[in-house]
Amino acid sequence: MPIERLLIANRGEIAVRIIRAAKAMGLHTIQAHSEADANMLAVRMADEAVCIGPAHAAQSYLNIDAVVAAAQSTKADAVHPGYGFMAENAQFARALETAGITFIGPSADTIDRMGDKVAARQAAMAAGVPVVPGSKGRLDTVEDAVNVAAEIGYPVMIKAAAGGGGRGIRIAQTEEELRKMAPQAQAEANAAFGDGGLYLERAIISPRHIEVQIMGDGTDAVHFFERECSMQRRRQKVWEEAGAACLEESTRAHLCDTAVALAKAVNYVGAGTLEYLYDSKTKEFFFIEMNTRIQVEHPVTEMLTGIDLVQEMIHVAGGGKLRQTQADITRTGHAIEVRVNAEDPFMQFLPFPGQVGALRVPQGDGIRFDHFLYEGYTIPPFYDSLLGKLIVHGKDRDTAIGMMASALEELEIGGIKTTKPLHLALARDPSVQADDFHTQWLEPWLTAGNLKPTP
Ligand code: ADP
Ligand code: ADP
Ligand code: MG
Repeated sequence: MPIERLLIANRGEIAVRIIRAAKAMGLHTIQAHSEADANMLAVRMADEAVCIGPAHAAQSYLNIDAVVAAAQSTKADAVHPGYGFMAENAQFARALETAGITFIGPSADTIDRMGDKVAARQAAMAAGVPVVPGSKGRLDTVEDAVNVAAEIGYPVMIKAAAGGGGRGIRIAQTEEELRKMAPQAQAEANAAFGDGGLYLERAIISPRHIEVQIMGDGTDAVHFFERECSMQRRRQKVWEEAGAACLEESTRAHLCDTAVALAKAVNYVGAGTLEYLYDSKTKEFFFIEMNTRIQVEHPVTEMLTGIDLVQEMIHVAGGGKLRQTQADITRTGHAIEVRVNAEDPFMQFLPFPGQVGALRVPQGDGIRFDHFLYEGYTIPPFYDSLLGKLIVHGKDRDTAIGMMASALEELEIGGIKTTKPLHLALARDPSVQADDFHTQWLEPWLTAGNLKPTP
């Protein structure tokens, strides 16, 4: 069913991004918002807006009944969930299916299967995709965990089957630590995700995080090459690139092929990302999880390939066939994104909401700033601290890093503290410039005092 009226069930920069894509496709846009978000940019841009409840996300952006009711009352024929909130909530997708409203994403059954990290591991193994050595399924008891760890060897990662956003992951160096941490991890996963299911993986030392963007229409699937997201703090991405400069062409081709094979094996519909860890010494890669949604870092892939992924995911959700064959999808140059957060990088990244003063957005060829700011806007304290994403695209990686440094210098967000100084220091760092880093690089770099306040 072609989509005509789209409800956006999210906020911040991604709501703005979705409205842009929808308008370009000639759709009528309806922005759902909490009481705290009545003044946000997406509300001003959309054709219509509808309040879905109080500031607390549990009562608005995470309230299935409220969002379905808003879609019905505004006669929306589709809902875009963005990322986070209910983007990977099978119950929400099912409630929309029941109401006859299109969910922009895969079916509820696919979310159930690939959103559960243990089930996704099993689907990957069945499709012949290498996974990190670990437990076959969920672990029921601490004894099971100890036995699996003895087989795969320490250190091990204790992970929540329902985990996400870098939460619920612990490393155990020894059996003693595992015995202590497993019950804690279980209790924490229960509280955070309503599901205490755990599994184990061998902890890979100093890997690269490399992920593949895919898109499927239920029959066919294609990839849009890979992204490198190894620059992480607390297992959350800070700086992302497309492509991964550390990969040889043959490894890249193999990696992307396994992602397409897995997408086809589950008849995937929509945009999705397969995340892998890559050992640059042995050149081995291991699947870790699939994200069944558009990701925060999708713009680097858009810059690299020139394809609007949000428009494509809306198109296939409406029943359309893929508009690109694999051969149509090519890559040019190198793209980098940084996540600009309202946090003070000199104060342990303490969130810093407040009122936006003078705003200067960098401009020029190959520069993009996806954000939801305007002068005088008051950032509410109830949600995550992402303000925007600065993206640059240059002819090669060195050029892109230079462009990032200049664009950051140009970027000015008055009135609040942001992570801009961190990104500027990274863009000027010799290891970053030499592409010599991994997922465990940034935290020690920060601890060692490499980020200095400018005098
Ligand atoms: P990405 O690779 O797109 O950054 P993340 O896993 O970091 O993916 O998640 C993107 C957003 O979704 C973040 O704002 C994060 O806080 C949120 N998020 C991720 N998983 C969950 C979850 N299970 N429940 C609620 N929010 C989540
Ligand atoms: P989430 O669902 O929270 O995004 P992931 O399974 O994608 O969790 O892992 C998040 C990050 O944690 C990875 O990008 C990587 O930095 C680290 N990580 C996850 N699994 C392992 C592992 N087996 N060995 C080493 N690091 C890991
Ligand atoms: Mg992940």
